[in-house]
Amino acid sequence: MSKFIFVTGGVVSSLGKGIASASIGKLLETRGLRVTILKCDPYLNVDPGTMNPYQHGEVYVTDDGAETDLDLGHYERFTSGHFTKDNNITAGKIYYSVITKERRGDYLGKTVQIIPHITDEIKCCIRKVAKDHDVDVVIVEIGGTVGDIESLPFLEAIRQLRWELGEHYALNIHVTLLPYIKSCGEQKTKPTQHSVGRLREIGIQPDILLCRTEKPISQEQREKIALFCNVDVESVIEAADVKHIYECPSAFKKENLDALILKKLNIKNHDRDLKEWEGYVVKRLKHPKHEVNIAVVGKYIQLPDAYKSIYEALVHGGIANDARVNIFKIDSEDLEKGKPDKYFKDIHGILVPGGFGQRGIEGKVRAIRFARENDIPFFGICLGMQLATVEFARNVCGLKSANSTEFDKTTKDPVISLLAEQHQVTNMGATMRLGAYQCHLEKDTRSLAAYRKEEISERHRHRFEFNNDYRDVLTSKGLVIAGIHTSRNLVEVVEVKGHRWFVGCQFHPEFQSKPDKPHPLFRDFIAAALTV
Ligand code: GLN
Repeated sequence: MSKFIFVTGGVVSSLGKGIASASIGKLLETRGLRVTILKCDPYLNVDPGTMNPYQHGEVYVTDDGAETDLDLGHYERFTSGHFTKDNNITAGKIYYSVITKERRGDYLGKTVQIIPHITDEIKCCIRKVAKDHDVDVVIVEIGGTVGDIESLPFLEAIRQLRWELGEHYALNIHVTLLPYIKSCGEQKTKPTQHSVGRLREIGIQPDILLCRTEKPISQEQREKIALFCNVDVESVIEAADVKHIYECPSAFKKENLDALILKKLNIKNHDRDLKEWEGYVVKRLKHPKHEVNIAVVGKYIQLPDAYKSIYEALVHGGIANDARVNIFKIDSEDLEKGKPDKYFKDIHGILVPGGFGQRGIEGKVRAIRFARENDIPFFGICLGMQLATVEFARNVCGLKSANSTEFDKTTKDPVISLLAEQHQVTNMGATMRLGAYQCHLEKDTRSLAAYRKEEISERHRHRFEFNNDYRDVLTSKGLVIAGIHTSRNLVEVVEVKGHRWFVGCQFHPEFQSKPDKPHPLFRDFIAAALTV
């Protein structure tokens, strides 16, 4: 039977519960345990797919085509797990399901209520993940902060689950903050006491406290926190700031967190080995031999979370090449103003990520042109690939008005356009081309050289596609169709002949990159940038 770890957060948001959960997953895997991680988001959207990056950051896509919270990206990067739509539940999804059942008559005669109907539905979803994934431990991260009205049904559900499962089958970890007050030179424990107090009011006693802190926690402080929060001193874990997120598993290991979890869950006889991770990922991050400057040209560059997986995958590409990747975030709208040259001084590679909507499009096209004409390695992802096609059509093939119909519905040359099935779409939620699709790579291409196999599978999230009517004219001028989704004859990868490294892919390779298994395209993009 699977055991459960419930992770909650207190005091403030953005304490890194996602990375903490992912790191715990990693540590338990190094103990030989099979682990899965589930994120519960208390908002009422059914999924984050319809949310703006300003609201939500990146939307992470799973193999089975679910649009999920970006924490699932952390979970997949830190662990060996492949997650599905069931690994992310939202209050919206829960309510939708309960209301659908009510309309169907499943609860006939009953008043439908938050307790028990909503809480039962949450418990059912959590137990389903344990059952379907056949794992030893399920880590359940509850989004939001203790005290939020909207997370209450989730907290009540995990309170009940903990009671139902009993000792040694479930434990609660609370991530909290110990703010350091400069004027008195002290670390304050009161917010943590209040936060734990809030949890206990609703019947949850944390077993372990993960204390986020800038400074080391003294023994005296640990004892004080333990006393007031009703935990043992060894269960007060220091979660100090680290330079690279991939150092977190080692930092927790030093605090004996994995041993403590195993003790509390009564799991015995597992060895731990974080050597590979520490020797490869952490060592190369801390002491890289080389250095490279990569420009990411997007419209949400001021938001650290909007292109989360892209930034991480670039770091992984750096790890593969033993190089530090300095990421320069360039606002595509700025590129529309002046000459692009000044933005790309000392840049060794240009990446244009995915995106939606008109704003900043022409700046991205300029960046692509600059990369193509100056033999700078270029990596276009999803919208980046579509715009690389537009740029090539305009500036190499002379189709001056070439565009995607996303930006110009009546363009004379719609080199990127909608498939017939997308014309019929009326609901915006979950109706894009989503999830993993097969792709066949052609011989003599950069892509095949990177993957070293002809058949690949990558994740998608888009509505528009390369328009096959333009294949001949584009390829006759040197655009290479490097990858095809064969059963539907869809162009998945384009390259430019004779260029140092110019690859645009319709899919999102960043979702499958891990620090210890860097994605081949990111690896080769960085390798090419190192030759500039
Ligand atoms: N807006 C484009 C489309 O829908 C690209 C999407 C993306 O980059 N994820 O096809």
